[in-house]
Amino acid sequence: MGNKTIANPSNTKEILAKYNLKLNDRLGQNLLIDQNILNKIIEAAVLTDNDTVIEIGPGLGSLTQFILREPGLGKLIAVEKDKRLVSILKEIFTSSQNLELVQSDVLDINWNEFIAERGIKDSTFKVISNLPYYITTPVIMGLLESDVKPARMVFMVQKEVAERMAASPGTKAFGALSIAVQFYCQVRIIHEVPPTVFIPQPDVYSSIITLIPYTEPPYKAKDRKLFFRVVKAIFQQRRKTIKNSLIKASTVNFNKDDVLEALEQSGIDSRIRGEKLSIASIVELSNNLIK
Ligand code: SAM
Repeated sequence: MGNKTIANPSNTKEILAKYNLKLNDRLGQNLLIDQNILNKIIEAAVLTDNDTVIEIGPGLGSLTQFILREPGLGKLIAVEKDKRLVSILKEIFTSSQNLELVQSDVLDINWNEFIAERGIKDSTFKVISNLPYYITTPVIMGLLESDVKPARMVFMVQKEVAERMAASPGTKAFGALSIAVQFYCQVRIIHEVPPTVFIPQPDVYSSIITLIPYTEPPYKAKDRKLFFRVVKAIFQQRRKTIKNSLIKASTVNFNKDDVLEALEQSGIDSRIRGEKLSIASIVELSNNLIK
């Protein structure tokens, strides 16, 4: 990489000063400056077999640099919205042949096209990101709901969001986000991260999580849209009984008899709260609600 200033955990401040760069709060620019945490993210990604990696929001490249060092890496594609950072990254990583820098808003990316254009096959790529927290859910759901199937994703997210994604039915943190994510993949919280490892420090604690998409989906929702409308109905009014939340929610339009019949077919007591149901039960219920 020549003798250019390479971003590393200890010289982030130096780079900011060199380029007279002010970080942009609105883009969630909290840069990682702790080598141990960077290593934990890399370990969680388990790079092997010439993996292709997509990094979202490389910032000044501290995580990028750690990924590039991995012997299991084939190619790294890094997507950054901030033009100023992209031109600094181009300068810093000028001789990294296996790095493609893409200047784009990640939310504008059509993943199916992005993967196809680069000849990447399903399950042969991984996604890694210290996410900009303001777009955590749309980024993750955008990937999960597309047809692409990464082998594994490793994200730094806000601690509470990680807990909601990994929560089990019947717990306080369990909600529509838990179901949306767990419908598609296995979720693991790997490590809790304090604000002190970032510049500038965020107001919240963070967690590193892994998401491993199912190759064979365990839940067979016959009508995925209807299933998610049922989920929304349950958690819009989570203190209501399952019967009442399905009859009264604005997201669905079922009549009482159909709801009672579907609940009976699914072996669900109409007086319990929907928030207590497992994902498999909600899938079965939504299948029985199809007319
Ligand atoms: N990876 C770097 C690190 O760990 O130090 C930076 C992580 S920082 C939390 C988030 C990064 O995402 C920033 O570089 C920010 O500019 C970028 N970003 C914010 N919104 C984005 C968007 N919509 N599309 C792509 N990148 C975005």
